[in-house]
Amino acid sequence: MTLGLTTRLLHADHFKGVEHGATHEPTHTAVAFGYESARDLAAVFQGDRSGHVYGRQGNPTSAALERKVSMLEGGTGTVTFATGMGAIAAVLLSLLRRGDHLVASRFLFGNTSSLLQTIESLGCEVTLVDATESGAVAAAIGPHTRMVFTETVANPRTQVADLAGIGRLCAERGILFVVDNTMTTPYLFQPAAVDAGLVVNSLTKSISGHGNVLGGAVTDTGRFDWSRYPNILPPYRKGPAAGWGLLQVRKKGLRDMGATLSGEAAHRISTGAETLALRMDRACDNALRLATWLSAQPGVVQVHYPGLEAHPQHARARELFRQFGALMSFELEDRRDPFAFLDALKVVIKSSHLGDNRTLAIPVAHTIFFEMGRERREAMGIAESLIRLSIGIEDYADLQDDFAVALAATA
Ligand SMILES: *Cc1c(COP(=O)(O)O)cnc(C)c1O
Repeated sequence: MTLGLTTRLLHADHFKGVEHGATHEPTHTAVAFGYESARDLAAVFQGDRSGHVYGRQGNPTSAALERKVSMLEGGTGTVTFATGMGAIAAVLLSLLRRGDHLVASRFLFGNTSSLLQTIESLGCEVTLVDATESGAVAAAIGPHTRMVFTETVANPRTQVADLAGIGRLCAERGILFVVDNTMTTPYLFQPAAVDAGLVVNSLTKSISGHGNVLGGAVTDTGRFDWSRYPNILPPYRKGPAAGWGLLQVRKKGLRDMGATLSGEAAHRISTGAETLALRMDRACDNALRLATWLSAQPGVVQVHYPGLEAHPQHARARELFRQFGALMSFELEDRRDPFAFLDALKVVIKSSHLGDNRTLAIPVAHTIFFEMGRERREAMGIAESLIRLSIGIEDYADLQDDFAVALAATA
């Protein structure tokens, strides 16, 4: 019997067997785990027996969430982290070494771009490319290229990466392909389908969905041959090569760097994730309707949303993704004040978060892309009036009414 995604999410804990017939894995708060026999303790330390030793490397509640994320992504294993950035930092810092070359999308989440500057300062070479064209990635690859990193749909302009093309290229060249799937979630898209080796998700966003918990995850899809990866340290070349990469990410990224997800946070993410499919269906439906409506309104110059036929990668998004996502952005005509527009919204919240049940709006150039300055914004195609929306699950009519009032207020 093959069960659907929501059924498997809902029943993952009790199928595995939880004491007292509980339907949820309990929230484990213990930091230490004791063993009857000292030999067992040693065997767990040496990786010869599974078990928990100290809370910084995870606990039974985060392990239950890791099984669910692996199931969602169709992966072979997952390591969870305290935040999405914790997960990305763990991937880059535990798998790259001085002298390595990384090719990354030019359209990345701002804090990831900032982290890449840190990686460069530690002696890695980073080349930023237009990831909507796999040819640009191919041209950037050199003899020391270890990894290609991209997101699925870029924030805020919604460029869709050439995921299939880059995946083929990396498979041919034996290069590790890492995809940040936060914007699509494994409900809309599984990067394993395009041969990504590792998938990163910020669990803070749509997977938990309620804006009440931080978390991140790294999933191994089983597609990458770790025996060919030169940076795996001797202690982690243990057992089948399929497990080496994630073992190093767990040991270096969690044990040594310490951005560990707590049991309480893992529990909250797990309960949020139960409704992932329902929430995404509703949010994506709202987003497509609103984007279509907004693009027909006077005063709105451009709407960037992969679900619109005018979007440059619309056909690609249609082919790869179940739906077009909940993120969009748009520009107002010059004579309208984006601040007055935003202040006229009564339902939509002015906030920097995304992937929340509530619809959120933010003036991009003045907030999340302020630090980089006007010149870099222009190079990235970020208009000064660009407004980013993360669409929630409100009743659609209320959203459209809210935007209609705000547009009228600035006419
Ligand atoms: C938010 C976000 C992150 C970082 O996640 P946090 O949980 O906030 O640390 C990484 N990548 C993308 C695409 C994001 O939107």
